[in-house]
Amino acid sequence: MNQTRTVYLDNSATTPVDPKVAEAMLPYFTEHYGNPNSLHRWGKSTRVAMDAARSQVASLIGAEPKEIIFTGGGSEADNLAIKGAAWALREKGRHLITSAIEHHAVLDAFKWLGKNGFEVTILPVDREGFVDPEQLKSALRDDTTLVSIMMANNEIGTIEPIEELGAICQDRGILFHTDAVQAAGHLPLDVKSLPVDMLTMAAHKMYGPKGIGALYVRKGIRLTPLIHGGGQEFGLRSGTENVPLAVGFGVAAELASQRLARGEHLREADLRDRLIRGVLDNVPDSFLTGSPEKRLPFHASFCIPRIEGEAMVLRLDFAGIGASSGSACTSGSLDPSHVLLALGLSHETAHGSLRLTLGKDTTAEDVDYVIQTLPPIVKTLRDMSPYKA
Ligand SMILES: *Cc1c(COP(=O)(O)O)cnc(C)c1O
Repeated sequence: MNQTRTVYLDNSATTPVDPKVAEAMLPYFTEHYGNPNSLHRWGKSTRVAMDAARSQVASLIGAEPKEIIFTGGGSEADNLAIKGAAWALREKGRHLITSAIEHHAVLDAFKWLGKNGFEVTILPVDREGFVDPEQLKSALRDDTTLVSIMMANNEIGTIEPIEELGAICQDRGILFHTDAVQAAGHLPLDVKSLPVDMLTMAAHKMYGPKGIGALYVRKGIRLTPLIHGGGQEFGLRSGTENVPLAVGFGVAAELASQRLARGEHLREADLRDRLIRGVLDNVPDSFLTGSPEKRLPFHASFCIPRIEGEAMVLRLDFAGIGASSGSACTSGSLDPSHVLLALGLSHETAHGSLRLTLGKDTTAEDVDYVIQTLPPIVKTLRDMSPYKA
């Protein structure tokens, strides 16, 4: 088979490291190896690099450097926010709220707390994946201490009404956390005007390295750390700092700020709409999952009834296209995605899900190649399928 074109459209699972990021990181594996907590010149050079990285990540979201806690990724930042706040406020109350479509890093942290002395309310979502602010309002209790609702969903791209949801919590003096791993670096964000107390980011979803994330913690909020020790990261995450990864995250955040200033998200939204139209027009019975309007600019997700999502992903891979069915974290298991089920889709329909997530290097030709390649694959799979229309 003389296949030349490859098109990576799984940027919600992870993004490639930008060559500029990799280049910036390299010296911190080799020449600059000092422990940033040391007083000598070796330590000073890496301390300066840590400070610069923290400022770069802070400025991506309009935060102050002291409000940025580096963690070992998005999952750890979610766990720190949720367990750290629940524990710190446990004398004040033990009721917590989240939504049914959160990433497992959030949902399973809450479920663990629910088995360990806390009470958790899981809010449902509507057909497009929206949390209803009125439902949040009526779920709040006097002993509610924390609410966590994601900014944008990784599987269906829906952007939640965070301003409204956060404001409801702020009015009641309840902490509000948002998992913004999919949104940060891809949508303009400013915590100075957003009513959020804590916000999660991950470098590898914005062309940075894997294994580092950050939690924004608004000034004055106290959390209990998950990792005790030497007191690094303002006492919230002990352990010698991972300087090369922090430097990479910093540069990735700065490059993301520049792309947003250039309107890259608008370019991606145009391509996304071209892709969505192309798929819906050419694949019979396919439909969009999530919201058509309030969705991530790089995100297209579908259900294609009467086929097996995994088979489709494998055939797309054979044609050079990197796609996913459900999220990377849950694929490999045969359970349909909890997100698609929460939308009210049947198990059978949820099995035929397809997610195509564009990146900064995706072109119109890439999109057209997918629109051309997908329909015959679906037709072949349906012809083989035991399900009947
Ligand atoms: C990827 C992702 C995470 C987990 O981040 P890691 O850095 O992989 O731990 C959490 N939440 C959302 C919404 C994600 O997309």
